[in-house]
Amino acid sequence: MKFQLLPSTFDERGCVSPKQHLACFVIDDCAAIDAGSLATASDSTQKKQIRDIVLTHAHLDHIAGLPLFIDDLFACLSEPILIHATAEVIEILERDIFNWDIYPRFSELTNEFGAALEYRPFEIGEEFSIKHLRFKSVSVNHKVPSVGFVVSDGKTTFAFSGDTAETNDFWKVVNDEEKMDAVLIECAFPNELDDLAEISHHLTPKTLKKEIAKLRHASSPIYVINLKPMYREEIVKQIGELENEKLLILDVGRIYDW
Ligand SMILES: [Zn+2]
Repeated sequence: MKFQLLPSTFDERGCVSPKQHLACFVIDDCAAIDAGSLATASDSTQKKQIRDIVLTHAHLDHIAGLPLFIDDLFACLSEPILIHATAEVIEILERDIFNWDIYPRFSELTNEFGAALEYRPFEIGEEFSIKHLRFKSVSVNHKVPSVGFVVSDGKTTFAFSGDTAETNDFWKVVNDEEKMDAVLIECAFPNELDDLAEISHHLTPKTLKKEIAKLRHASSPIYVINLKPMYREEIVKQIGELENEKLLILDVGRIYDW
């Protein structure tokens, strides 16, 4: 299984930076989890093939690229973009983004081939398929209704927390799996911003340590995602101080083969 966190931030020379402002994770060049940098950082193959977008929640850093991605492709879409999300997230998108004020309501528009955007709502706990991939959704603990996923292609299985603070439901679903090839978990703030992390329902290296102690799959690598770019160096340093060789920072832009 091919997995990539698309870049979203550039340094002074215009080169891709390891910092992550936006969240967009592409699986096998054909499906995306979240759409933060989908319009701006996807390559031509991904633009041609990605027609399924799965959303964890509706915060801007996770959906920023969604309207632009649909807009860019609108005239040439021979099949609709399918947005897989909970009913709550779909309602927010229709009310606050695709409302004609912020951006066109693509769900009401058609091109010469038909619909440009369709929603595929799922219930929390429900499983659904996208091409060769099976998604299992699980509720996580964020400021707004948010989900994580366990994703499998039948051979490789990984778990994805999305944005979350301390959670038990996620780990129960992860631990119920027979095997786990990778776990991706957020860590947004450094330890000294624990108050802000608590208010905004995110993890710090200190609370991350408690979370990963709940993981039963001892051999699974754990990739840290969604580090706030302003605090990246400090978070990376503090994660290093946890001295856990299974704990790695997911590289921005790198194509992982699991
Ligand atoms: Zn969020």
